[in-house]
Amino acid sequence: MKLLGEHLLDEEHVMIRETARRFAETEIKPNAMQWEEAGSYPRELHRIAADTGLLGVGFPEELGGAGGGALHLVMCVEGLMRGGSTGVTVGLGTHQIALPPLLHIGSREQQQRFIPAVLRGEKLAALAVTEPGAGSDVAGTRTRARRDGDHYVVEGEKLYISGGTRADELMTLVRTGDDPHGGLTFLLIPRASEGVQVSAPLRKTGWWASDTAEIRFDQVRVPVERRIGPEGAAFLALMRNFQMERISLAAYGVATAAIALEEAMRWSRERRAFGRPLTGFQVTRHRIADMATTVESARVFTLTVAAALDRGEYRVREVSMAKNIAARAAVEVTHEAVQLFGGLGYMRETLVERLSRDARLLPIGGGTEEIMKEIIARELDLRGASR
Ligand SMILES: Cc1cc2nc3c(=O)[nH]c(=O)nc-3n(C[C@H](O)[C@H](O)[C@H](O)COP(=O)(O)OP(=O)(O)OC[C@H]3O[C@@H](n4cnc5c(N)ncnc54)[C@H](O)[C@@H]3O)c2cc1C
Repeated sequence: MKLLGEHLLDEEHVMIRETARRFAETEIKPNAMQWEEAGSYPRELHRIAADTGLLGVGFPEELGGAGGGALHLVMCVEGLMRGGSTGVTVGLGTHQIALPPLLHIGSREQQQRFIPAVLRGEKLAALAVTEPGAGSDVAGTRTRARRDGDHYVVEGEKLYISGGTRADELMTLVRTGDDPHGGLTFLLIPRASEGVQVSAPLRKTGWWASDTAEIRFDQVRVPVERRIGPEGAAFLALMRNFQMERISLAAYGVATAAIALEEAMRWSRERRAFGRPLTGFQVTRHRIADMATTVESARVFTLTVAAALDRGEYRVREVSMAKNIAARAAVEVTHEAVQLFGGLGYMRETLVERLSRDARLLPIGGGTEEIMKEIIARELDLRGASR
């Protein structure tokens, strides 16, 4: 189905989507079921993805990247999701949230030391921000880094870290000062450091092929040269990070809903009940019409916001809206798709069953639906909204 919004794309965007789709159909799709059930995929997949240039999307060419901005990233997600595994797509993309602080506040030397190896698929990187007591409220970060000569000594705990069980480098938010926001700093901590204790992958509702970890830092000594930017610079870097993370999560939502819609249409034409295909019932046709309307609206909005970001516009309000619209679209459309599949939609063998579980994270991860609304309200300058 040709969806609205293609006019926002140039040849390069389309090429990235096609490359990602080809990679997904040959490398992910045939294995998706097995990797999802195993809760993991081969690390080697990062090297194969790197060879196609997909890991480098959004990173400068001089650091081994492929260049491009938000729309390139959205197209990359759209293509990769055709593999049928949100977990693998997320796993291949953890560096997209882990490395940007290096780009924004890291030194040239740090960028060259750490970024190219990840974009070649040789090393994996994860972002460690959330803590047991601090999710939405980043200013509540408790993991402490105490200066001791030319090292920091890190003590604390991180939770729900995507890729955390096998990432080589952990972009870790730590507290170096008491100011709620101004006391936050990024340290790039090797997972192999003494005192880093990583849990077994956490058992989740969806995103099975992506590992999610709890990580404890017990008196971990980190050389000062692994501090990214000056002390206290992390909060602003993280806010910049969030814009790209949220528009890419919107892309996950759009792709999830679009695939669920296609599956539902195929099935509704095939499946017969009471002597006719499901599409023979008006209730089915209307349900699918609503699903298609939701998908198209979410996609056009997401692509429009991504294009505005690429023009350098300030679109914090619209990024938050896009994330909410697309996350809702994914939850609603997958719910309807499962309903159309009947009992089969509740079986692990169907893609809609997996997508419906995967979709549930979208209104939670990367800033919850409620936090997005707080941001929208603040950007609308509503009295008291930011308090
Ligand atoms: C599968 C998975 C992968 C993840 N990957 C990563 C990762 O790679 N790195 C990382 O750092 N984190 C990661 N996270 C963490 C994720 O970003 C957080 O779960 C999310 O930000 C919400 O934080 P929380 O879970 O602590 O919920 P809380 O902040 O405790 O929120 C609980 C509820 O309270 C609501 N709430 C909180 N504050 C307000 C408010 N001011 N107004 C109204 N309602 C409010 C929330 O909206 C939510 O409904 C991941 C989480 C999951 C589940």
